[in-house]
Amino acid sequence: MKKILFLIIVSLAVWPKPLAFAAEPSKWKEDKQEHFIIYYKNAPEDFIREVEKASEEYYQEICENLGFHRYKGWTWDERAKIYIYDDDEDYKKESSNIPWAHGVAFAEQKIIRTFPSASGFFDSVLPHEMGHIILREFIGHEAKVPLWFEEGVAMYQEKAKRWGAHKIVQKAIADKSFVPLKDLTSFALNHNASNEAFINLFYAEAASVVNYLINELGYQRFVRFCRELKEGQPFDWALKSVYLRFDDINGLNKAWMSYLETQ
Ligand SMILES: [Zn+2]
Repeated sequence: MKKILFLIIVSLAVWPKPLAFAAEPSKWKEDKQEHFIIYYKNAPEDFIREVEKASEEYYQEICENLGFHRYKGWTWDERAKIYIYDDDEDYKKESSNIPWAHGVAFAEQKIIRTFPSASGFFDSVLPHEMGHIILREFIGHEAKVPLWFEEGVAMYQEKAKRWGAHKIVQKAIADKSFVPLKDLTSFALNHNASNEAFINLFYAEAASVVNYLINELGYQRFVRFCRELKEGQPFDWALKSVYLRFDDINGLNKAWMSYLETQ
């Protein structure tokens, strides 16, 4: 059976109490790059070299594919930290609150925690978690956005998921399991989320609608939309002011569904 990979973002809105990580700084080796500091213990050096290369490449790619061309990124002193645990067991020992996740991003602190054998480390975990951090660096940590939007932007960085999502949502529409954006918005993902089918659909819908916003409606509007969010505009208001044809989230839902019908 295909292993399902869940990746999450932790924010104070989702987790009122910050998760405790019992990391002792001394046991970590440190590898400083331009935008990242990679911390690891016993992971092979050649793997760490790959992480160095991939993280810097994804950094450029994510800024570009979100249209954040003029975004200057973070400074040398504020580099993001990537913690590479030895394995699943080592990772879970220090992040056991989220047993189903293979990677986690703490966007505000710009920290990613994962392990080398996490399924899809280079294709999924790394770009996904970096997507979370870059989005939040751009829109700010005060901006109130639905979880599906954050996850959608992160999923957008996983190329295979990006292109597969429309099909999953089309199937959900056909078999009437589709969840409208309005209902998706009220859903808060947490470690108690146990309905696997629903979680899968949540991620697929998130990926599909963000893909629709960026690819069909264009980068320029997407960047303007993110700027409105950064300015502190409510999500629905920002949507209406940038995408003039949507009155609110229901308008977006309707346009997105119509688009999927034509695909
Ligand atoms: Zn995520």
